[in-house]
Amino acid sequence: MDGLAPLFQRIDVKPNGSILLGNFVNADGFAKKQVRVVTHAHLDHLGGLQKSHSYQGMILMTPETFVYASNLYNFKATKSKVKNMRYGNPIKIWSEKITFLKADHILGSVQVLVENEKGLRVLYSGDFKNPGWGTEIVEDVDILIVDATYGCPHMIRDYKDRQEEILVDVVERAMKYSEKVVIFSYYGKSEEVILILRRWGFDQPVIMERRHYNTLKELERLGYNFGEILPSDHPDTKRLDEGIFLVHLNRLNRRKEQLRKDTSNIILSGWFFEPYRRVAENAWEVGFSDHADFEDTIFYIIQNKPGLVITDASRSGKCAEALARYLKFRYGIKAVARPSQLSMLL
Ligand SMILES: [Zn+2]
Repeated sequence: MDGLAPLFQRIDVKPNGSILLGNFVNADGFAKKQVRVVTHAHLDHLGGLQKSHSYQGMILMTPETFVYASNLYNFKATKSKVKNMRYGNPIKIWSEKITFLKADHILGSVQVLVENEKGLRVLYSGDFKNPGWGTEIVEDVDILIVDATYGCPHMIRDYKDRQEEILVDVVERAMKYSEKVVIFSYYGKSEEVILILRRWGFDQPVIMERRHYNTLKELERLGYNFGEILPSDHPDTKRLDEGIFLVHLNRLNRRKEQLRKDTSNIILSGWFFEPYRRVAENAWEVGFSDHADFEDTIFYIIQNKPGLVITDASRSGKCAEALARYLKFRYGIKAVARPSQLSMLL
């Protein structure tokens, strides 16, 4: 895009996934900046974190993100380097003010707003869903850098407002088949699922691998309540005749684990755009996502009233291009996908 080259020196998305937010601040990847923000603890946002810890002056994250990063992803930190931030409590680094805003994604997720002394407002969405209620709208943003996971126009979940109820319904059905239910899911989504099921009155014990269990116990110290949870190596789990077993979805995808014959199985998938389908007599796939679909991504962008939109092509190339094109030609919003696909190939 013409005339934007000088801007991209300071505000941009780099091929390593790092989001440049100003002169001193970046997020979700390593960059030679004073401050690194971690918007949430998913692997594609934790890249180069240990390197950032060595070379960048300060790392900002929520306490939840710190619990996940240190327990599940072996992030080793010295206390002086990491600053725990809360929503809406800004911090000033020289001329730039950094504010964390609520993002509905996994526990502890944030959007980041960086404002400089000239009044320029740069917002990075991080990963999010439910814009306007779960995910805060900022309005009058000069530059919005937005996640484009479901930035392709066909990526719509018509049932998204009933996602929670549909999950509960499928768990009920699965329990009629067997009182032991295995749920295959990613970290982050698993915790959301436990909290949903507890809210809907499911009080069965939830069993998970030891380090996942340790993570949840630490999250409980921050005020979350997951009810009865057990680590899978606990002797009591052998004697259970009912329970919800959480298994990381990668174990199924990488064929380290198969659907279990003696239980019912539920697979939570963000890339399946139907409410659910029965894939075997004892197995269901549920279209359950922690990202905004295409419609909600557009809604979020329009509500923020940005002067320029940069769609994140480092994490979702084709859909970032499609989203930028749609914003330009359908709404007349200035938009560009970064990094350009050409520079990704170089
Ligand atoms: Zn994420």
